[in-house]
Amino acid sequence: GEFSQFDLSETARIAANWVKRGTKSAYEITYRGEENCMAYGRPGHIQQVVMNLVQNAVDALAGVEDAAICLDLSQVGDRAVLTVCDNGPGVPEDISTTIFDPFFTTKQVGDGTGLGLSISHKIAEEHGGSLSLVAKEGKGACFRLELPTGEPT
Ligand code: ADP
Ligand code: MG
Repeated sequence: GEFSQFDLSETARIAANWVKRGTKSAYEITYRGEENCMAYGRPGHIQQVVMNLVQNAVDALAGVEDAAICLDLSQVGDRAVLTVCDNGPGVPEDISTTIFDPFFTTKQVGDGTGLGLSISHKIAEEHGGSLSLVAKEGKGACFRLELPTGEPT
């Protein structure tokens, strides 16, 4: 796909619903923040990034009571910001940077390739954006995707 301006809120919803359809476990997804949050890039690639983040949240929520995922969208200056947060066990401090390495996984063989976050990180950077793990108060993990809102000038 070519670079274009697209609605990140719509892309995020499509991605989250796609993951939801493919899982049997029960969890709630809530959306907060701005509607019609525009971003600039390849929507198909960004959809894949959001799918990776939501799938990781779903995996982390296995067996968790009142499992919930929250997607929050905002525009901060010339950046579109999407956070994907869950109330699972969170990411242990000692692997908080390693999780972005290719093939790093804590999942059983066959359950995870360990490529989701490394590919997602690379896609974010190709967009002139970023993907990072942000600390979250209480339990859970929270990932922050930042993208430019418009074409670079
Ligand atoms: P995979 O999902 O195949 O294991 P990823 O690159 O997507 O590979 O994720 C790497 C690792 O990061 C996971 O195996 C897991 O240990 C950790 N991780 C990612 N997202 C979360 C999350 N939401 N909560 C807890 N741990 C996570
Ligand atoms: Mg993954």
